[in-house]
Amino acid sequence: MVLFSQMLNNSPDLSDAIYRSKNIFANNLGSDIFWSGRNFVIPFFLIIDVLIICWRLIRRYRQMQLRHIINELHYIANGNYDYRIPFELRGDLSKVVDSINGLVDSTVAAIEDERAIEKSKDELITNVSHDIRTPLTSIIGYLGLIEDGQYQSPDEILKYTSIAYNKAKQMKSLVEDLFEYSKVRQPSVPVNTISFDMVQLLEQLAADFELEARKKNIQVLVETQEPQLIMDGDTEKLVRVFNNLITNAFKYGTDADKILIGIEKSKNEAIVTVKNNGKEIPREALDQLFDRFYRVDESRSQEISGTGLGLAIAQNIINLHGGYIYAQSNEEWTSFIIHLPLYKNQVKTLPDNH
Ligand code: ATP
Ligand code: MG
Repeated sequence: MVLFSQMLNNSPDLSDAIYRSKNIFANNLGSDIFWSGRNFVIPFFLIIDVLIICWRLIRRYRQMQLRHIINELHYIANGNYDYRIPFELRGDLSKVVDSINGLVDSTVAAIEDERAIEKSKDELITNVSHDIRTPLTSIIGYLGLIEDGQYQSPDEILKYTSIAYNKAKQMKSLVEDLFEYSKVRQPSVPVNTISFDMVQLLEQLAADFELEARKKNIQVLVETQEPQLIMDGDTEKLVRVFNNLITNAFKYGTDADKILIGIEKSKNEAIVTVKNNGKEIPREALDQLFDRFYRVDESRSQEISGTGLGLAIAQNIINLHGGYIYAQSNEEWTSFIIHLPLYKNQVKTLPDNH
């Protein structure tokens, strides 16, 4: 202001010009006081000052908010992953806070997924080592008896080797199942889709079981309204699924005398049902059937060879095809129901209640 007034004093032209323009405003506003001399400059600089102060205050406030956000971020980074930045802001900073909270959410979800995978791998290793150790112990035990000459007759040697042989086969099937399971679990597992006739495939499969059916006095029937049902799928993998379901019906269908394979076509799905009559599966066991290594009534299942991986593999294969599988059981029928999309690239159909 001092400089400005000195400038005015030293240059009469400028002060003249201002004086003249002042007069113009003064005449228009009808007031001379506001525009006279310093009174014109003071309000002008006052307004500029206020503006600058406001601007600086806003900047300072923003910096403060930013510092606050950074502090909260440090807090989260120190391992407090349950914490989210609680305050709500306006403008760009609110987007920053939302993004940070979203980022923490997805990081936490990824960590939890990772932990779940890690845990399930540990469980898998524990289960596998347990399941391999049991037959291996008995193989070593029986072969050890032969090696030490602890037998009375050649028949006894035969008995021991036969037990060892069966246990070795049990181990082989476990290792094969496990191999299959880890293969279908991989996200990049190739599905070799071809167009095939589901009715023909299942009729062929049912025919393959004829010998076993006759031996066990069980009827295997394919029931369908469709003369044929052309659809897309990896037949090699699907045969594995149906094989397991039919074998299960033979193995576990206590007092069963019928195995029915139903094929239906609904809109854009194929619905295949494999069901057997006989004893009901308890309700609490139904939910766990598809868990790997799960076997209903462990003690009874022990007499029947199996690893408890068949249904877990089946579920993975059906999921790979974009379908779903579930089980139902009542005193009359135990059914495994599979929904499969007819065509490879069709929009996924969601289960009604599963
Ligand atoms: P794997 O198929 O790997 O050789 P598994 O047959 O024991 O072994 P799953 O096919 O996964 O394994 O079946 C799991 C369990 O579900 C079986 O052990 C059995 O207790 C039960 N289960 C499966 N199908 C039937 C069925 N049709 N009736 C009664 N119980 C069944
Ligand atoms: Mg099975």
